[in-house]
Amino acid sequence: MAKIRYCWRCRIDVPLLEEAEWLEIEPLLRADYKATQQIRAEKGLGLREALADLQSRACERLRELTGFTEQNFNAIWHHRLAEFGPECQMCGHLLRTPRASYCAQCGTPRDAAHDAAVALPDARTDADANR
Ligand SMILES: [Zn+2]
Ligand SMILES: [Zn+2]
Repeated sequence: MAKIRYCWRCRIDVPLLEEAEWLEIEPLLRADYKATQQIRAEKGLGLREALADLQSRACERLRELTGFTEQNFNAIWHHRLAEFGPECQMCGHLLRTPRASYCAQCGTPRDAAHDAAVALPDARTDADANR
């Protein structure tokens, strides 16, 4: 299940997707992107208008999976849990990347010893292996 966490880019709490969910959503994001390009070409719309016109399949699936209503499918691109780091021990926010050395939210340095025990070892290992 996706975890509702604070997204530092969106500055709100959003569902961050587990890898299984991400695998389902990612192709829909690509399809949405193509559909947006198509709408722009066919109707001669700007990006903003085309996005308003689009029935986003990614947003629809996200709502089914998480109950969260996302307006712009482009935001979902960075809502992948594996792209975030472990929880900050001080404030509980997720570190901005798996390799972040401190918490950008409260400035607490990452504790390497604690780090090994923090959640998401599988997702992070997989993501790192693919780089
Ligand atoms: Zn976000
Ligand atoms: Zn913190």
